[in-house]
Order: sequence, then structure tokens, then C-alpha cells
Amino acid sequence: MTENNQKQTMRFETEVTQLLNLMIHSLYSNKEIFLRELVSNASDAADKLRFEAATDDALYGGDSDLHVQIDINKEARTITITDNGIGMSRDEVIENIGTIAKSGTKAFVESLSGDSKKDAHLIGQFGVGFYSSFLVANRVTLNTRRADMAEEHGVSWASAGDGAYTIETIARPQRGTEIILHLRDDADEYLEDYRIKSIIHKYADHIPFPIRMQSIIEAETDDEGNETKAAEISIDTVNQASALWTRAKSELSDEEYINFYKHVGHDYDGPLSWVHQKLEGKYEYTLLLYIPKHAPFDLWQQDAKHGVKLYVRRVFIMEANNDLLPRYLRFVRGIMDSSDIPLNVSREILQKNPAIDAMKKGATKRILGQLADLAKEKAEDFTTFWNEFGNCLKEGIIEDFSNKAAIAKLLRFASTETDTQSASLEDYVARMKEGQDTIYYITAESLAAAKHSPHLEVFRKKGIEVLLMHDRVDEWLTQHLHDFDGKKLQSIAKGELDLSNIGDEEDKAKMEEAAKAAEPVIEKVKKALGDKVKDVRSTHRLTDSPACLVSDQFDMGGNLERILKQAGQEVPTSKPILELNPEHALILKIANIDDEATLENWANLLLDQAILAEGALPEDPAGFVQRINQMLAH
Ligand code: ADP
Repeated sequence: MTENNQKQTMRFETEVTQLLNLMIHSLYSNKEIFLRELVSNASDAADKLRFEAATDDALYGGDSDLHVQIDINKEARTITITDNGIGMSRDEVIENIGTIAKSGTKAFVESLSGDSKKDAHLIGQFGVGFYSSFLVANRVTLNTRRADMAEEHGVSWASAGDGAYTIETIARPQRGTEIILHLRDDADEYLEDYRIKSIIHKYADHIPFPIRMQSIIEAETDDEGNETKAAEISIDTVNQASALWTRAKSELSDEEYINFYKHVGHDYDGPLSWVHQKLEGKYEYTLLLYIPKHAPFDLWQQDAKHGVKLYVRRVFIMEANNDLLPRYLRFVRGIMDSSDIPLNVSREILQKNPAIDAMKKGATKRILGQLADLAKEKAEDFTTFWNEFGNCLKEGIIEDFSNKAAIAKLLRFASTETDTQSASLEDYVARMKEGQDTIYYITAESLAAAKHSPHLEVFRKKGIEVLLMHDRVDEWLTQHLHDFDGKKLQSIAKGELDLSNIGDEEDKAKMEEAAKAAEPVIEKVKKALGDKVKDVRSTHRLTDSPACLVSDQFDMGGNLERILKQAGQEVPTSKPILELNPEHALILKIANIDDEATLENWANLLLDQAILAEGALPEDPAGFVQRINQMLAH
């Protein structure tokens, strides 16, 4: 570490400056959240100290009364928020709130909508809470000292939010952090005790450390102006200061649950739903887990910022996600508090600890149960959930074998019966035709491509529902989900299709006759296409189109092959099977052509249009255009 004692002026990176400008000039509604953010940081700092002190008691230096103090100075027009938590070193100050824009800062600036009210809500989620000080202050001073450093290694940071800040090393006897906000002229209201207290009740009642404020009882005087009772200063604790999850469910209001979520979930919006449960058995633990209303910006990033918080007997240990819940539930927020884990637990121990394992399993079951209840009782909320997190949940089918059946019930798809992703597999099974024992689906690049696929023609004719899968993850999903409720799942673009059990006998006989009649033309097309295709055969999948492509049952299929190729993976190209509609006018026409060159043109045209209908490109697009033009001109 390089120590530079002198006062230095440093510039923020462009994105931080942009952010500060926004705080000062644009995000004017809901300014009061600055206090929520600063108190939340102070509480995290106290949590961190308590965790480190669990293995090194000396860090307390005799003062283990962790708390946050708020002081108002009307003359100086300042509010000071002080904690005796972990504090920061000079390097940490620079890294955490200094020069460099954290990934969250950039993401925050990018996601701004211009609607001040909405944008202010995003502050907590993106981890730029400290800067919300500038919503009410035109100058901010932060003095801090890390608990494990000597007195002379204190740090003072100051900025007027104008693109630069100063930093210097100071002597600071007390550990922890003090933030002094020099209020702007329009922020008078925050100099009032009652206003600050009401904000704390609103946002910070559940913070598990006392938040203290001075209250001054004015001196009493008699008629002659003699002081009969001296002014008194007392320190009051303003919040409840108990860990919310340790309280009985019956004691807690929805509002308290929601406010706690806003703190642990770093989300201004309330949650969609929550589970609060104390479990006693071989292992004892408490869960308070929330399902958010919307996805965080980093849901699809490997190093997502937030997760579930792990506590051991009310001591905060760490925030982690993949260790405490399976990865496909990474959107869940909240806390897990175990009574069976050593306080000095490390990440390595976490992964092997049987108590964590039991808690992870229990939490997974409860979240899935909660989602099942939501689907049953609050369909609209479940739709919100599905639209935000459905694709995460699909990963569960691949990842979590033991809960596969429960997850499968939660899946929703678009289908030929509904354009929105709202068909469950149970719905599908309930709508199955008499004689149908298979759940049919098609995978494609987009809903439009799936919906207009020629493969659907015969299903439409017979009124058989087909699931329209168009998310990339669906390709993997279907490789792991082979059946549901005893019914096989089958791609309608793979293998031989046998719908003979569904529909009437007459149809069947007619089809067989047509197929027989088409044998010569099929032979001709097969010869003309040579090794471009695996096979050419007659189909009964089609009613309106002349041709379509099919993969062998165990081949990868065109859609997956394209996805993998786009991702730069080497995949063996499996040749498709071309199926021809024996009753289509075009096929009947080709049956009468004997000229080899003309026949070859027609055969290639059939193949290429079947490729196009899948949403893919023919191997030789220019050749395809040429062929079409040639035929149009004839
Ligand atoms: P977030 O808290 O979401 O990470 P902030 O901008 O509010 O984003 O804070 C950035 C970082 O600065 C925190 O993660 C923490 O490491 C540090 N920090 C902020 N306030 C304090 C404090 N009172 N005590 C110790 N560290 C703090």
C-alpha cells in the first residue's frame, strides 16, 4: 500500500461525474432516500466489524456497542451520520467512493429513463448509494478509520460533487466512519428532528443496530427569567433495532416485511412475495426469502453484485448466492440465519458444510413451493415472475435433478393455443386430444418463426396443441425434460411423425394412397439432391406447404445447430431429411418433369425454401435467387 499523507485533489472518472450531476440536477424527487442509503452502509459496516471481531476480539478496542448516530446542526446546516463499524483505509476510500466508476455506476447511468422518480428508485440496486448524499448536500465530507489500523491512519475525503474530490490522511482516534452532509439551501426540511425520525421509521426500523439521535430538552425558566431547570441533552434510540427475522410472523406487518426487503434486496420496489420460516430439526435455521418484482441489471452476469445474506445466530457472515441457493434461483433475496455453523466459516467450508447443505435444500423447496402457491393463487403475480425470471427457472430443469418435477410444473410456454408464455404443461395435458399420448413442441429462433413453421400445418388441421419454444435455453431444456406426467415430450421437427391414433381412419387411408403415388417423384428429387440431404420422404405433416425439413430423432436439430455455430462452437453438421407433401400442386407438377436440369432446379428450390421457412439461410443464397428468377421468367 502506498501511503501519501498530503492532501491530494483527484478527479472522478467521467461516469461518476455524470452520476453526481444527475444527483444534483435531475433526481429531485424522493430525496429522502439519501438517509436510507447512508444508514444502510453504516449498518453493513457494523456487520462487517462484528464478523471480523468474531475471530479477533481486539478489533472492538473495548467498544462493542455497535450503533449509528445521527446529529443535526442547525447553525452549520449539517447532518452527520456516524458509525463505529469497520471503517475504510485510504485505498478503500479511493476504490469504493473515489475515482473509479464501479461496474454498477456505468450500468446505472445507462439504465436511466429520464423519469426522475423512477430513476431515483434505481440508486440502491446499482450500488451507488453513497453518492445519493448529493441529493441533499452540496458538499460532503467523509472521515474514517479502519478498525484494524492505528489512529494516525485516518482518512478525510471531501467533495462538492463537481468532478473532483480531495483526500488526505488524518489522525482519527475513533474507528468507523462519519459522513458530514452540508445541506443545500432547498434541503431545510432535513434539519428537523421529526423529519429525520420519520424517515428512519420508514426505512430503517429493522436495521439490527441502534440508530441514535440527540434530543435536547430546553431549559425551564421562571417568570423573572431565572433558570429553574437546566437544558438536558439525552440520546434516544430511534429504531426498533432488532433483527426482524427473529420476530414472530404474527408480530410483523406487511409493511415491515416490505421495508426490510428494500434494505436487503437493494430494491426500491416492494417484493412480489416472501417466505418467512423458522425450521427446527437436525439443523436449526430461519429463512426470510423474497422473490423480487423485477430482475436486477446483472441477472445474467457471472459476478452479480447481490445475493442472499448468510447470518449465524444473527451475526452477518457474508452475502453469497451460489453457495446458499442453486444458481437458477439467483434472483432470490433475503437472509438465512443458521444456528449450526461456526462463526469463522470460510467459503470453502461453506461448500462442504452439512448444515449449509440442509439449509440450501430446505430453502430451495420453500421457494419452489412459494412459486407454486403464487401460480395457483395469484396468477397475475406469477406472470410477472415468469416474465422476469422464467428463463432462470428453466436452468433448474438442467441443474436440479431432485426438484425437476416441481420445476416442470412451474414452466410456462407459448403455444398454438396462446401467444403469451402462459401454457403450463398441466394445462397442455388437460387439453390433449383423445388418443394423444405425447406433448408436442417446436423450437425456433423466434415466436414468429415457431408460429409460422410449416411443421404445424397438420397439427392445426387436427386441432392438436403444440408448444412454441423460442428461447435459446429451450433447446437445452428439452434435452433434459423428456416427459411430464407420464407423457413423452416430442419435437414435431424430429423423427417420424405418427398421428394415426388421433383423427379418423379415412384420412389415414387417403394419406397412404397419396404417399404411394408420390414414390417416383420422391426418388427423382432424392437423386437430384444427392448428398445434400440424408433422405427424401413423403410427409403427412404438411397441408399447405410443399416441403419441410426434419431431423433424425437423435440429431441435434437445425435450431440448436445454428445457436451453437453463432456462439462460435464447432458442431458436426447433420444433414436434414427433406419431407415432401405428396398432395401439393407443386409436387404433382414436378412429378411430370423428366428433364434432368429442370428437375434439379426444382429439387434445390424445394430444399432451399424449406431451409428458409426454418428461419435459416440456404447454403448458396445467390444461387437460390438465380434459380427463382429463372423460373419466374419461364
Ligand atoms: P454499495 O453500498 O451498494 O456497495 P455505496 O456507493 O453505497 O454502494 O458504497 C460503496 C462502498 O463504500 C460500500 O460497498 C462500502 O465498501 C463502502 N462504504 C460506504 N459507506 C461505508 C461506511 N459507512 N463504512 C464503511 N464502508 C463504507
